[in-house]
Parts: sequence; C-alpha cells; structure tokens
Amino acid sequence: MNVRKTNIYDLDLDQLGVFLSDMQEPAYRARQIWQGLYVHNWQAANEFTNLPKDLRQRLDQTIDFQPLIPEEKLSSSDRQTEKILFRLTDGKAIETVLMAYEERRTLCISTQAGCAMGCVFCATGQMGFRRHLTSGEIVAQVMYYARQLKDRGEKVTNVVMMGMGEPFHNYDSTLAAIDRLNHKYGYNFGARRFTISTVGLVPMIERFTKEKRQINLAISLHAADDELRSSMLPVNRKYPIDVLLKACKAYVETTGRRITFEWALIRDVNDSPETARKLAGRLSGLLCHVNVIPLNPTQKYPGQATTRERAEAFRGVLEKAGIPCTVRIRRGIDIQAGCGQLAEGTQNPSDINFSK
Ligand code: SF4
Repeated sequence: MNVRKTNIYDLDLDQLGVFLSDMQEPAYRARQIWQGLYVHNWQAANEFTNLPKDLRQRLDQTIDFQPLIPEEKLSSSDRQTEKILFRLTDGKAIETVLMAYEERRTLCISTQAGCAMGCVFCATGQMGFRRHLTSGEIVAQVMYYARQLKDRGEKVTNVVMMGMGEPFHNYDSTLAAIDRLNHKYGYNFGARRFTISTVGLVPMIERFTKEKRQINLAISLHAADDELRSSMLPVNRKYPIDVLLKACKAYVETTGRRITFEWALIRDVNDSPETARKLAGRLSGLLCHVNVIPLNPTQKYPGQATTRERAEAFRGVLEKAGIPCTVRIRRGIDIQAGCGQLAEGTQNPSDINFSK
C-alpha cells in the first residue's frame, strides 16, 4: 500500500513534537529537525547529520522533505526574474516567482492552485479554482528558494502573496504559513517582510485588522467606480468599493499601518487622468500608497498595457492630489511572469507544454 508521507512543512513545532513522540523519540528532536529545516535549509532526511542514522531512515519512510517538485524553471532575458512551476503531490501545478532588484530578492508565492475570484484579466482567474494549498505547501515555496539563494550566497528579503490564488480565501493556511516562517527558532523571517495582497474580501480584511499583525496589506483595486470594477473583479458585486474602502480605513486607523493599492493600468480602460482624479478623490485622507503597473496581457482578455507616458501622467495626477504613487516596471514579460500564466493548461501532467 502506498501511504502518503507527511509534508514536513505542514507541522508547526508542537505538532512536530507530537509526531516524534508517536515515534517514541524525545521532545528535543523536534528542535533539531526544526533547525535543520529552517536554519540549515536541509531538504532530505540524509542531510540531517544532527540526528542518529536510524532516525533519519525512519523519517525518510514517513516524512516528505520535498513536497514540491520543481518541474520547469524559466529565467527572463535580463536574468532578474525567475519563474518556477512546481508540481504538487496530487498532480496540481502552482507557480512561484523570484524577482531580483538591487539587493532585494522578492518571492511572489501562491496560496491556492487556481483561484475562485475570476478576475477577468488574470490567467489564474481564467483557469478557475482547483484547491487551497496547505500551510506547508506555502512554506515550502519559500524554503525552496531559501536553499537556492543560500547556495548563491544570497537571501530571500521579501515575500509577497501575489501568486496564484486569493490569500484571504485560504486565510488560516496563509497565516499559519507566515507564523511558521516567522518562528524565532526557525527561519525567523520578519513579519514586516511579508505582504498579503487581496482582491478585497471584506470580512477577512476585518479579521486581519483585529489581529493587528505587522504584515503588510495590499488591495487590488484597479477601478474607482463600481460598474467598471465589477466588470473586472466579480468580488466587487459582493463588496463594492465604498464597503471595501471603509474596511481599509478601519484597518489603517486600528493598526496605524499604511495600506497599498494595486492598480493594473489597462489602455483606454482605467488609465485616464480623469480616472486618476476619481481615484484620488476616493483615497483622499487615507494613509496609503498606490502602485500602478501596466497590465500584463493574458490570452483570454483583450485589454492591453498602457504606455509609459500615460502611466506617468496617471501618477502625476495622484501625486498632485497628495496620494503617493509608484509606477512599477513590468518584470518577466518574456517568461509569462504574471500569476497563472505558466500553470494555465498544465494542471494535468500530460498537458504540459512550455513555450519558452
Ligand atoms: S488576480 Fe488574484 S484574486 Fe484575481 S483571479 Fe487572479 S489570482 Fe485570483
């Protein structure tokens, strides 16, 4: 019988202790394994030289130390963006992107296979929902790159939950993954280095607000009026802009933290100075920052990216109104770095057809 092994990253330190006590092992072994995983970045039972050989062998039978199978890796022509397609143990596919910019090594990770939110311009949304990732599958994406970067003498500096999936639709696993990566005896990755990006699930924003965490929050806004936003982001029909911004205001007031709004600039759709003025009016008085980025085109959405000039003009209107704004440069276009673009159509192993 083929017994499914336990994903080691699914266990927090206490759960690992229980797992080991079931194997008649002393409690201190949990800390040793934890250290091997998160400090030394070991990814196979035989690497755990801090454990007796017979325990390593037994762990090898029951624990999966590499729950993500890297299947294809693409690098952008400028070598600054790298995208990987991981195969999960049940055959589903997810993507993780590494972006290098000066000293920063930012990981964009997935929280679900596919996504239920259906944003029309997004390849993952076009694909539909497959399943939630476990906390361990979220953690494993970071630890995979922790190891890769360590081998190059580098470190992960930031983690953004902006890959496949809506993190607040998989709230518990997303936050459990952050807690695990943040653990002081483990990877000890600072909470302020994480950013959760949500399309605007208001009840979860409210829950997150109550928890008063140090994690950064970003909202995918993309439109300043409900008619346009609902046509692009179906979630807006349930949580319209007024309701969403009320939750954002409560977040800022409760936590004292600045909130970020993401805005994909689509030519002749949401990139006019008039739209920028409308947005400035909506955000007036809110401690926030707006990131605008020309749209990353996808196969099933006809919208095109705005021009650099129109992006700058949009930024100019916002800044004049006192709203800080950054024009982000599109990265990794030549490797389809937008979330879901690589996994689209590759959910079954037989479907894999990499064009790059
Ligand atoms: S943009 Fe984000 S929330 Fe919307 S469909 Fe894509 S992955 Fe889901």
